Amino acid sequence: MHCPFCPEPDTRVIDSRLSNDGKQVRRRRECAACSERFTTYESAELNMPRIVKTDGSRVPYSDEKLQAGVMRALEKRPVSTEQIEEALGRIKHELLTTGEKEIPSSSIGNWVMDELLALDHVAYIRFASVYLDFSDINAFSDAIDRLDQKSIPRKKRK
Ligand SMILES: [Zn+2]
Repeated sequence: MHCPFCPEPDTRVIDSRLSNDGKQVRRRRECAACSERFTTYESAELNMPRIVKTDGSRVPYSDEKLQAGVMRALEKRPVSTEQIEEALGRIKHELLTTGEKEIPSSSIGNWVMDELLALDHVAYIRFASVYLDFSDINAFSDAIDRLDQKSIPRKKRK
């Protein structure tokens, strides 16, 4: 890493220690050119990004909202609690690992659609109809096309 005191592009780590809780590494560095010393801290950045809604407003990520949306779509469907928890876990993992500070709500909507498509087609269509709002008929027909690609028997469709 660059020296903050002079133009030297390289500095040397002279001490490295783990914080008490093990979640942070503190390093003492020394510049080979000007001999100044400074400290850096390294920790994993695992914050839930804020959600950017379609109207541009920002809201904090809500576990409850995500779960409620998925559960509503899956009401009375033959999908086990374990499968639902796994799907929610994968979505949360995506959120935590994006490394972004903000993420559009449409990204989460698409991840939910992907999970529901794999879990239960009725739930997928239920969620799509709410999420895509039926106002955009092209978006809805795209959602139906994705079902076709999963080779759903024709008789299940209208
Ligand atoms: Zn320096």
